Formats: sequence, C-alpha cells, structure tokens
Amino acid sequence: MKTMGLIGGMSWESSLEYYRIINETVKERLGGFHSAKCILYSVDFEEVEKLQHLGDWDELTRLMMDAAQRLERAGADFVMICTNTMHKMADEVQGAIHIPVLHIVDVTAQAIKSNGQTRVGLLGTKFTMEQDFYKGRLRDKHGLDVLIPSSDERQVVHDILYSELCLGEIKELSKGKFKSVIQNLVDRGAQGVILGCTEIPLIVSHDDYEIPVYDTTRLHAQAAVDFAFQ
Ligand code: GLU
Repeated sequence: MKTMGLIGGMSWESSLEYYRIINETVKERLGGFHSAKCILYSVDFEEVEKLQHLGDWDELTRLMMDAAQRLERAGADFVMICTNTMHKMADEVQGAIHIPVLHIVDVTAQAIKSNGQTRVGLLGTKFTMEQDFYKGRLRDKHGLDVLIPSSDERQVVHDILYSELCLGEIKELSKGKFKSVIQNLVDRGAQGVILGCTEIPLIVSHDDYEIPVYDTTRLHAQAAVDFAFQ
C-alpha cells in the first residue's frame, strides 16, 4: 500500500471526513485491523481564508507548494489537496514535487462519465464556481458541459460555506437553500450536480435527491485508496 500525503485543514471539518472515508474504505477492502498509511499536513485555515478573500493567490500557491514538499520529504508517495478551491494551483503544486498529485476534478469527471452523464451543475465556493480552473478542466479535458447557479445563488452558497460549514455549523435553513439552488440547476438541464466543495456533503445528502449528486470528498478519498493499491 502506498503512503498518501494529505494537505488538509481546509477546513479541518472536511479533512476529518477524508480521514474517516479513507480508513473505512481500506478496512472494507482488507478487513481486520487494516487502515490507511497516510501523512496529514494540516494548515491554519484562518490564514488561507484571509488570503483567498484578499485575492492573494500567489502567496496561497507558495503555501500549497510548501505543504506538498513537506509531505514529499516526509515520505508520501502521492499528494491529495483536500479541497476543491485550492486545486486552482494544482499544476504549480505538481510542478514543485516529484510525486503525483491526485486531481479532484479528474476523479469527479470519471464518476460523471461512468454514469453516462454529460451536463452537470457545479456547486462550490465562488472561486470554484466562477473561475475557470475547475469548469475549464471539466470542459476541456473531460468534455463535460457545466452549469453554475445564478449570481445571487452563488453568493448564498458561498456565504453558507464560509460562515457556517467551514466553521462546523449545520443549519436546517441552509439545507433548504441548497435544495432550491439544486432544483434550479436541474430545471435548467443538469443531469447531476457536483458537490464541488468538500464541506457541502456535510449538509447535502444524495438520499435527498433523485438525480446523482457527486460528493467530491468521498470520490476523492476513495480514489486515493484505489491509487494507494495500484
Ligand atoms: N473545502 C472547500 C472546497 O472544497 C472550501 C475551503 C477552501 O477554500 O479551501 O473548496
């Protein structure tokens, strides 16, 4: 089994999910006392969140490259950036190390394509929904058509993420807001919806929807286990 290197803490609530899903998946496959070999480098999210909202992506890129290099030096065989948003600098992170980065968009696209879907909605931070690093890769590398919520809805989703979910708060009212944003994407033709922020699965469950919802936390964590066994 390969050793995973996880860049976490963005937020730690979602890193907990990664850790749980990764270990549960290893246990399902191997049984007994088996668990994952992994190294976690967890950042201080306050620093990251401030830089994101200041738009200082250069400093954030340095932070992520440094985190990945620490994991490589510590003996990781591959790196996982445990957040969708911070895949904005995935190429730079990959260029800074000699071990592979398992990209969350590729893993998610694989799941969408194996369901035979071509048109999906995307929920995430405003950075993820509005900038091209995520949609662009889904479109150009994987041939997928991506719909994003309206500008007002994007603000609602972004605010719930940063003022509730990344602080560990789950509110019933916000669950309802997600429901209506997802319904509007479906009405516009989305065949499925990407939960493109690793905290969204804390509040949106696929049991609540008839269309497939792509839980990027789970898909990424399970892909890490697949990769670790390759
Ligand atoms: N975990 C979130 C994501 O998947 C947001 C936190 C962050 O900005 O990294 O995008």
